[in-house]
Amino acid sequence: MLRINDIIDKAQTYLPQEDLEMIEKAYIYSASVHQGQIRLSGEPYLTHPMEVAGILTDMKMDAATIISGLLHDTIEDTLTTAEHLEREFGRDVTFLVRGLTKLSKISFGSQEERQSENLRKMILAMSADIRILLVRLADRIHNMRTLQYHPKEKRIYIARETMDIYAPLANRLGINWMRMELEDLSFQYIASDAFNELTTKIAKSKEARNRYTEEVRSIITNEIDKHSIKGRVEGRAKHLYSIYKKMHEQHIDFNEVYDLIAFRIILDSDKEKSCYEALSMIHALWKPVPGRFKDYIAMPKANNYQSLHTTVIGPYGERVEIQIRTKTMHEWAEKGIAAHWRYKEGRAYKDNEQDQIKKLREILEIQQDVKNPKEFMSDLKLALFPEEVYVFTPHGDVKSFPKGATPIDFAYSIHTDVGNQCIGAKVNRSIVPLRYKLQNGDTVEIITQAGHHPSKDWLKNVVTTRATSKIRNWINLEEKKNSMALGRDLLEKEFKRHNLKFNNYMKTNEIKKVFAGFSVNQIDDLLSYVGLGRISPKRVVNYFLADGEVSATEPIKEKLKKKRLAPPSLGVSLIGVEDPDYIMVNFAKCCNPIPGDEISGYISRGRGVIVHTSNCPYIKKMGKDRIVNVQWNFREEHTYPVHIKVVCDDIKGVLTEVSSIISSFDVNISYAEVETVNLIANCNFIIDISSLPLLNQILSELKRLKFIKSIEWLHHF
Ligand code: MN
Repeated sequence: MLRINDIIDKAQTYLPQEDLEMIEKAYIYSASVHQGQIRLSGEPYLTHPMEVAGILTDMKMDAATIISGLLHDTIEDTLTTAEHLEREFGRDVTFLVRGLTKLSKISFGSQEERQSENLRKMILAMSADIRILLVRLADRIHNMRTLQYHPKEKRIYIARETMDIYAPLANRLGINWMRMELEDLSFQYIASDAFNELTTKIAKSKEARNRYTEEVRSIITNEIDKHSIKGRVEGRAKHLYSIYKKMHEQHIDFNEVYDLIAFRIILDSDKEKSCYEALSMIHALWKPVPGRFKDYIAMPKANNYQSLHTTVIGPYGERVEIQIRTKTMHEWAEKGIAAHWRYKEGRAYKDNEQDQIKKLREILEIQQDVKNPKEFMSDLKLALFPEEVYVFTPHGDVKSFPKGATPIDFAYSIHTDVGNQCIGAKVNRSIVPLRYKLQNGDTVEIITQAGHHPSKDWLKNVVTTRATSKIRNWINLEEKKNSMALGRDLLEKEFKRHNLKFNNYMKTNEIKKVFAGFSVNQIDDLLSYVGLGRISPKRVVNYFLADGEVSATEPIKEKLKKKRLAPPSLGVSLIGVEDPDYIMVNFAKCCNPIPGDEISGYISRGRGVIVHTSNCPYIKKMGKDRIVNVQWNFREEHTYPVHIKVVCDDIKGVLTEVSSIISSFDVNISYAEVETVNLIANCNFIIDISSLPLLNQILSELKRLKFIKSIEWLHHF
């Protein structure tokens, strides 16, 4: 059993005294909270965090990481709280332990094989600090080393998970020894027969292999000495799983696997040039196998691995695989990202972290992988600057979304109906607003209500294309309904002007001529095109008028005049006039006052009192003796026609949208038309307004529409 002194002994080679004291403190703490807990192996639970911390110390991790190793299960499995940890060990350690607690939760639940890529990404994304992932991997290594104590089914499940998720993660981070150990340990449980067979074969050939290894090694060593190249030569059996994979993938027998042993020249010099020199020396010594040379120095692997690889025909005519690299490249090849976590004395954690991130950035910038650079880049970026979030369905399935996604995106990812009828969401069992931004690890549940429908505002709160297009579809459908209703209304009015009833023509053969004339197929399309302003109601009615009678375009001015002919006299009351009912009241055409305007009355000859706005230039010129005080009489509702001119982008449905806003104020639209010129739509409306505040309300509502360029309202002619 590993003892705290073993850890301290190793740590003191690179950590200062105060760090060692903290590690000891964490040990005592961990021992006390885990007291009485026993592992399946029968050992005290404490052995597990100790081993994890030991692995991290071997990796020369900083104190916070080692302490997190000692404490990684405390929040999850003991009565310890994050608050308590923070008091005792500070924020940095607490942050890591919390991250680990969160991570440990996602390994449970039943995942489909195909989801493992998602899970890997999720784990990366949740490891906001790469150290979280390193502790997690060390944790997994120790759990795999002691897997034999679990029941068989559990063993296979954990081994699969390790093979699918953790070994590839170690590979991504370039920590080769971890990848190999995780793969071999998993292999042992997943395919135990093949594992045992291979182990036996390798054991049998061990002696011969050792002899052979020694022989090749000394030939290479002599050769590099001769060329006064400084370095060492290693010959090592490849790890079992890679041999197994090779046999399996290439359908070859164990005896045909020549390169069981990989030779490696590790140069003292840090110059890349020396590697190429050593390579040419090897190629002069043994004949290279064509097509087997790989230059990972010029083109590093995705995980930043650098080396020269070559295969040559060795002393017995066999293939020999040789790797050539510098010491620095070797350190990276073995430790990967962990090689960057070297503790730098006297540096505060923050600097240290920035340093790490800077280094990772540099790594990212120099990435040029031969195979799949994109994947690694995005994964590593994800680890540092997460761009995606991973959340759970209530059943434990993982779903991934772009960063910024909301429960609405989630709802549409399940089913269009779930999206359309979504009225709320629960995240981790609490209700959240629909604009809530999903976080990694959230469990999301959607609340629906039959008959509910999407709102246009939702478009501002979704990021997935699926949700966006589904919401748009719904809105388009809704707009079509609205434009049809408006189209019908406009047609009915236009027909009525000619004493015709539109409804009588709807199902006749004559309407089919109209369809042909406007290239539409059905009444719905005709209605909607009229509603959208693409077809004018006048052109439709012309089909049904007697020869010679044409629904001429009546200038809007004329329309207004007609409308204005009968302004209700009861709209104003005269102040100080004894019997106002007997006095005729007219509204001035120069300023066309509407209720809410400040008004003055002018006593005319023969036309009664003419009501002007108070600031009308005409009334100012009139003699004061003929002016009377008048005021609006709001006791009864009267409406006044107002001409609204809207200039906007020519997008589908402008007319419908503007009309539906006006109608929402319960205001009658007596006339509506659209003219389109050069992608600009000029819309003219005559609406019946009962007061100025109401008009202002409508205008300010219209101004909120993005596609509108300008709005004018006119009643001065
Ligand atoms: Mn653990």
